[in-house]
Amino acid sequence: EMKIFLKTEDEINLMRKANQLVGLTLAELGKHIKPGVTTLQLDRIAEEFIRDHGATPTFKNFPNPFGEPFPACICTSINDVVVHGIPSDKDVLHEGDVISIDCGTLLDGFNGDSCYTFCVGEVNEEVKQLLRVTKESLYLGIEQAVAGNHVGDIGYAIQNHCQSYGYDIVREFTGHGIGKAMHEDPPIPNFGTKGNGVMLKAGMCIAVEPMITLGDRKVGLLPDKWSVVTRDHKPAAHFEHTIVVRKGKAEILSSFVEVEHLERLNF
Ligand code: MG
Ligand code: MG
Repeated sequence: EMKIFLKTEDEINLMRKANQLVGLTLAELGKHIKPGVTTLQLDRIAEEFIRDHGATPTFKNFPNPFGEPFPACICTSINDVVVHGIPSDKDVLHEGDVISIDCGTLLDGFNGDSCYTFCVGEVNEEVKQLLRVTKESLYLGIEQAVAGNHVGDIGYAIQNHCQSYGYDIVREFTGHGIGKAMHEDPPIPNFGTKGNGVMLKAGMCIAVEPMITLGDRKVGLLPDKWSVVTRDHKPAAHFEHTIVVRKGKAEILSSFVEVEHLERLNF
């Protein structure tokens, strides 16, 4: 049976702080993404930024299914790496790459979780479209995340949009409830049927995170036991926001586009 924790407005305020710190961290990292930078440098910047704001990087030491701790603060997934890429001084960004950076923070007992796929310099049109459509599908999914709708409405909106461009949807990983734990019920798949699944209620906090491939959706695990890659080695895109379900319209908690959040945060 699923355990879904509805959040009070006080708890949502804490969720917002943790998530806006993730958004700010991603915005800070965005300034440093250029050819020649290593993913380990990005990880150092993220760790300092997160700790300077009084939070803990949740991903650090988070165990994989083999019980091995994740060695870094952010997941850096380049090109054909879909998710869970490990920062390394050997991974240098090159012109034309795309890199998804997934980041999590724990602040005042609540979790933030968000991911953004960045371009390194000029990226070819085919891959830029993949990024644009994946991001659009995230917002279409979020539009469905209103009280009274179902989890399947979110998945359907994402799947329908991405498949209309011929893209494929990774199924091994999903979005999730989030709160005091980084992963709570319910799972939020990026595919589904309208009206199916758990009914959404006001106060549910969920992470919506389409992982979309330019080619085939089949993925494999690298020997590092973390990095998930497309088997055809075509690129993937991953965008994620943590949101709170409300009546009428969901609220995005992890936005870093809206800079007025900076003032509201009072960091
Ligand atoms: Mg994430
Ligand atoms: Mg997540």
